[in-house]
Amino acid sequence: MGILDQPARAFLQFISSHADVSPLSYYRIGEGDMGRGEENDGDVIYTATAVDLACDFILRADTDMRTLFREALDASAQKPQTAAPNERFERALDFALQWEGTHIEEVAAGDDSGAPLLCSECFHDDGLRLNSMQLGQRDMSKCPNCGSQSGMKLSKLCVAALAQQFFVWGTIQRRKYGASPAVQFNKRQTTSISVAPWLEPDLRLIERTLQVGFFQYGPRLWMVGEVDPLKALQKTNSRAEVISRILKEYPGRILNTDECFYRLRKAPTNPIDFGEYDPPPREKLGEGRFDTAKLPILYGSQDIEVCLHECRVTADDELYIATLTPSRTLRLLNLAEPLGEEHVTEFESLDMALHMLFLAGRHSYEISREIPTAAYKCRFYGLVYPSYFTLLRTGATPLETTYGISLRMFPESREHTRKNTISNLALFSRPVAEGSVSVQCINRVMLNKVDYKVHFGPLLVHGSTSDAPECDSGPNH
Ligand SMILES: [Zn+2]
Repeated sequence: MGILDQPARAFLQFISSHADVSPLSYYRIGEGDMGRGEENDGDVIYTATAVDLACDFILRADTDMRTLFREALDASAQKPQTAAPNERFERALDFALQWEGTHIEEVAAGDDSGAPLLCSECFHDDGLRLNSMQLGQRDMSKCPNCGSQSGMKLSKLCVAALAQQFFVWGTIQRRKYGASPAVQFNKRQTTSISVAPWLEPDLRLIERTLQVGFFQYGPRLWMVGEVDPLKALQKTNSRAEVISRILKEYPGRILNTDECFYRLRKAPTNPIDFGEYDPPPREKLGEGRFDTAKLPILYGSQDIEVCLHECRVTADDELYIATLTPSRTLRLLNLAEPLGEEHVTEFESLDMALHMLFLAGRHSYEISREIPTAAYKCRFYGLVYPSYFTLLRTGATPLETTYGISLRMFPESREHTRKNTISNLALFSRPVAEGSVSVQCINRVMLNKVDYKVHFGPLLVHGSTSDAPECDSGPNH
């Protein structure tokens, strides 16, 4: 009977995609007696919202029926009945946002002066002090809090950015698929996390300055891999269907003859032999993200630093890099391009599924190895795919969100996503031997300086980030 209008659709999408903050969700059970069958505020609000929404649908259905059979009814029955959705939406929104992090601009709203409120010398925790030195401004005024002249000064916006970097980004735990912060903060909560004693006064100072509370974050479940196409990819009986969607929905990318890319080799037997820069011999196939014994893959990148990361090189290695160029235009499947999907949430998003697949480690190779075989059959010469080291190379936050919604879901953020993606190339078969790619040049590579950029996070006393069950603690993360 008719189609739901835009506000009703938006509301339905909103509450269904926030079902993971509902009273019965795994993360919420136990809080304020929720999910125990005893009356409590959270359950009451949720039940009332559901009943309210159901009433609205009945009203709408009634109106539709009256419109459809208007000729048989009294003329007055045609008058449309509408329910005001705003108040209800506000209530549901308020409930969901209680448990989401805030936007730092919102925290700093009302203080555009940029005047210093704190400085790097205000803090006891050394990590927090070092982070604040990177974010603050040098000026010789006296800090209004501690009186220091030499400390790097922090405006309200800077303090909010510091809180986000240290407490949110600094507590991110990687999961088998996805990642989520252990801590969030907003203006709706009072602080309920416990930190190491040396950090306690700093936490209170930031809390007072920003008027926010820090709490343990129960992630929206898509952040930890509850994404339908990703789950379908993990099951062998539903994988092929998703892979065929990937082939249909992702765009192509033409690699032109005026483009070049690099391939790095560690201690090749004969560095001048062009064949050394083709995929390895048959007995060494089947170890990478895409190659199998049947389909060798030449891995390359247009970013030299990513080549170095991907090969896990050390200063002791003897390294050679080949500059390669296509001998003719090559049609590739571009999996690094953010997909513009309409009317889907993160839970149904193919874009999110692939994003998480390529951020996952070795355990995901079993899945990714099936993509080239399917693409090869569709006459692609290779893949463009986001590097596993994208985050390390660009310094971006994994799975950036605002109010718990992935930035990848916003069409206006697509350019930002594109800029923050480092692409790699995976060319099928043996392109150098087959002549589709030619070696322009080979050079030795000397590692003479390695730059690390770090920032710090807190040591939590309860629910410490170090005891996350699936936290990946490999050396490259
Ligand atoms: Zn100070």
